[in-house]
Amino acid sequence: MPPPSAPGACLTQVLVHTPAHSQMTGALSYWSPAPLPPGTLVRVPLGQRELLGVVWPGESATPPDTALDPAKLRPITAALEALPPLSPHWRALISFAAGYYQRTAGEVALAALPPQLRDMSSVQLGRRLKKLAKAASASVKPETRPTQASDTAPAPEATGASQSVRLTPEQQQAIDQFHQQAGPFLLFGATGSGKTEVFMHCTAALLAASSEAQALVMVPEINLTPQLEARFKARFCAIYGDDAVVSMHSGMTPAQRLNSWLAAHSGAARVVLGTRMAVFASMPQLRLIVVDEEHDPSYKSGEGARYSARDLAIYRGRLEGAKVMLGSATPSLESWYHSRPAAEGGRYLRLEMPSRIGSGQLPLVRRVDMNHQPKSCIISPPLLAAMAQRIARGEQSMVFLNRRGYAPVLQCSDCDWKSECPHCSAYRVFHKIDRTLRCHHCGLSERVPRACPACGNPDIVPLGRGTERLEEHLAELLADLRRPDGEPVRIMRIDADTTRLKGTLESQLAQVHTGEVDVLVGTQMIAKGHDFRRITLVAAVNPDNALFSSDFRAPERLFSLLMQAAGRAGRDETVATQSEMWLQTCQPTHPLYEALKKHDYPAFAASQLKERQQAAMPPFSFQALVRAEARSQEAAQGFLNLASQTAASQSDTAALLAHLMLYPAVPMSMARIANIERAQMLVESPSRTVLQRFLSAWQGVLHSTRSDPSCKGVIRWAIDVDPLNI
Ligand code: ADP
Ligand code: ZN
Ligand code: ZN
Repeated sequence: MPPPSAPGACLTQVLVHTPAHSQMTGALSYWSPAPLPPGTLVRVPLGQRELLGVVWPGESATPPDTALDPAKLRPITAALEALPPLSPHWRALISFAAGYYQRTAGEVALAALPPQLRDMSSVQLGRRLKKLAKAASASVKPETRPTQASDTAPAPEATGASQSVRLTPEQQQAIDQFHQQAGPFLLFGATGSGKTEVFMHCTAALLAASSEAQALVMVPEINLTPQLEARFKARFCAIYGDDAVVSMHSGMTPAQRLNSWLAAHSGAARVVLGTRMAVFASMPQLRLIVVDEEHDPSYKSGEGARYSARDLAIYRGRLEGAKVMLGSATPSLESWYHSRPAAEGGRYLRLEMPSRIGSGQLPLVRRVDMNHQPKSCIISPPLLAAMAQRIARGEQSMVFLNRRGYAPVLQCSDCDWKSECPHCSAYRVFHKIDRTLRCHHCGLSERVPRACPACGNPDIVPLGRGTERLEEHLAELLADLRRPDGEPVRIMRIDADTTRLKGTLESQLAQVHTGEVDVLVGTQMIAKGHDFRRITLVAAVNPDNALFSSDFRAPERLFSLLMQAAGRAGRDETVATQSEMWLQTCQPTHPLYEALKKHDYPAFAASQLKERQQAAMPPFSFQALVRAEARSQEAAQGFLNLASQTAASQSDTAALLAHLMLYPAVPMSMARIANIERAQMLVESPSRTVLQRFLSAWQGVLHSTRSDPSCKGVIRWAIDVDPLNI
């Protein structure tokens, strides 16, 4: 260790990964042989470990370790000076996200960096950067491309247009508005209205305007939208070279993640395509953020800092002066509300594209009243007849059911034994394929017992059905039918069970695309995003459950899922059949289905927003949940209720309680997982600022309550700001 008096040695504040529970907030102090610019990556010792850190001065006025004797401070191990420092904008984004979602900046910052950085020396990183720069300059750029002698028109790539596509008037208008206005934008376009094409045009225009500009394009789940990735790569690699488009998602190897990150950070990557984690990508020349399918719940993180990448994209855009475009056929009610007319207080600009490309019609929605169908039938006779017609014509059908496995419960026909999971408040699901009972929450998997474990009765029966049973049932129903080529009907199931192995989803989707499959069965996995060309019938077997859910967002999710699913049908205008969306329901006149029948998202959104306003729910109020896990429900709830009482008795939090509602602790809807009891407490306020102020003051209370002797059984707790599942 160099003595503190070494010439030039200076105190340096470094942010490392300190989880929220460690109660170490702010940066830690180290000696560095020379001053390092803020944002420099370093490696530092902490206890016995060596951690990656970021130089982060002035994070807090009184860092917790100022009391330390300077002589006891340790020196940084290495500075990765070959890397340009992380920008002030990036650091501001991290600080904001940490504050807003009630976590430490260290946790958020380090989770946003590729872990492999820790194992690289500055020299190695320098070499990598050089290689990237070389590759980038070697690729042909439109600015430097010689004009083709035989062609007087400007190269189409330079204007961002692709040779094959002539924009529709709706697309053109959206793009014009994008260029004229500041945004943020909400591109509200029907499924198949050509939103992706608009994203690509806007991206192309901004990249062409500056040789350094970068664009971030976010998608909910990359493996579910391989087509979008392929289209962006095809378009932009052709202009800027293969290395100019990189991906960022959790399915990548650490080495791939590092490569993408370095390419984005160094500016070599012009387009970053990624999932929610990519919102933290270091992009020094960020000019555009696109959030495709912005309504998708997977933009909200479910662990660590529970951030919403969509909301952070808006914040980041404003911070960096980058344009932001959200897109969806069924926007989240929050974004929809924000895009109301500016005169009414709207903050986003809504761009509308109601028409499908070409003559592609939106499907006709047909409701089957299950009250008038043969008792306990699964596929109603009219639906079956409609599917048979499609099969005879060589067209495809898609049937979805939101439950995987064979049956959600096994039951004894004699006693009341059911296949409960011993560790969770849930039933174990029967999977016939390997004759197991599997808990989808804790993972417990056992062979199906030969007889009832309670009374020995050998007659145990499956109750209800999942996709596996639906597939089996359809095979029976369709056994006698033939395709136009005389072959038997081909049925394929796609769900989390069939796609567990890497690459299987891709190969399954490919088989659907090539027409090898006549009937596709699956969970909501198949309802999202895919551009299936020959599907002319989509059926929801049993969508009613969500109508009665206690979660106030359930109708919004159901409507969006059904609209998205309907959007899979009728995408190919060369298939002449009018496509159809079938709903089997016991509530055929439910307003949600009425709106769906008219493909009328605005009407649905208006009625939902009215209900939310009357009930003072988001977006008319702001919420946070505190979740606690403990050995017993009593302990989990006791901890939350005690923290709530303390909030009422402490001046800084008590003052805010007049503008804020702290509800009593309740068990979570899944009250027990893997023998851990879970409880939650809802905090609600009409003011976001009040909620934020309360939460940061209450953090300390929660920490100290945890140490109360009465809270011994508490295992962990966490705050979820703007929670999606209540
Ligand atoms: P969305 O993202 O809104 O569902 P896409 O951008 O995927 O729609 O467009 C649907 C289909 O229409 C795609 O196959 C796309 O290539 C095609 N398409 C988009 N814009 C045009 C256009 N202007 N002319 C012809 N085809 C188009
Ligand atoms: Zn029994
Ligand atoms: Zn379990």
